[in-house]
Amino acid sequence: MKKAARKTVKKAAKKATTAVKKDASADPVAKAPKSVAAKPPKSAAKPPRNESRTALVRRARRINRELAEVYPYAHPELDFENSFQLILATVLSAQTTDLRVNQTTPALFAKYPTPEDLAAANPEEVEEILRPTGFFRAKTKSVIGLSKALVEEFGGEVPGRLEDLVKLPGVGRKTAFVVLGNAFGRPGITVDTHFQRLVRRWQWTDEKDPDKIEAAVGALFPKSEWTMLSHHVIFHGRRICHARKPACGACPIAPLCPAYGEGETDPEKAKKLLKYEKGGFPGQRLNPPQAYLDAGGIPAPPLGAPQGTP
Ligand code: SF4
Repeated sequence: MKKAARKTVKKAAKKATTAVKKDASADPVAKAPKSVAAKPPKSAAKPPRNESRTALVRRARRINRELAEVYPYAHPELDFENSFQLILATVLSAQTTDLRVNQTTPALFAKYPTPEDLAAANPEEVEEILRPTGFFRAKTKSVIGLSKALVEEFGGEVPGRLEDLVKLPGVGRKTAFVVLGNAFGRPGITVDTHFQRLVRRWQWTDEKDPDKIEAAVGALFPKSEWTMLSHHVIFHGRRICHARKPACGACPIAPLCPAYGEGETDPEKAKKLLKYEKGGFPGQRLNPPQAYLDAGGIPAPPLGAPQGTP
């Protein structure tokens, strides 16, 4: 990795850590991770009928503040050490879990550390490495094409502008915002499947198109909060507010949620639905940040080891 890129990634990581620290110092409760379902709600929250714009903004920001207390260690769940690794991992994460990507990328990054190396790779050898991530032929094409474009058009560096990133093969707005937010420290909203489901459950928007969701939710928050907001929402979707069986009875933001009751409301049964560190299982990252480990998070097992959660 070139010196400048390393510097940029370090800067972005420092910025994200400072933002978390700032949150924690502004709110004494945020110093320790909030325990899940300390006091489950006695009754279902009422859907916010005719909620005014101001009330919606207040409720949305309160949900984000509560989630920041529950997940003070929220972070991107893909393992990466520089912007090139992050863009590759994000492209590979389509249609699979971050865990599966993290178990696969160490071999890819070791064999092809730079865009130049991957641009000149034998596709069959790359396919063999990427096989566990699914759709491995299409993904091989994307990562080799992406690397060629980086070499030919951007001097072998990952560009730090949205308009350049979305021109790269296999890179849409979602991938671009992940890279901007986490490798360049530029605010971005990541509208993945969890984000879409949760913001609709919370009635922050009823839009279905990811770009429209991004615009609607972005308007509820200051730009500086967009990246951490995305991490909080995605962490909550993966651990508690699942697609099929949300653990409502173990959900710390139940009193603010119009969809309370869509899932299991019995606190004991709901507790059994919790995933990753909230359920006492391994996380998705093989190399999680120290804050996650300090909060009791367990690193993911390498490829081939027994799995904790799906
Ligand atoms: S788990 Fe239930 S109460 Fe919590 S955010 Fe999801 S739907 Fe709402």
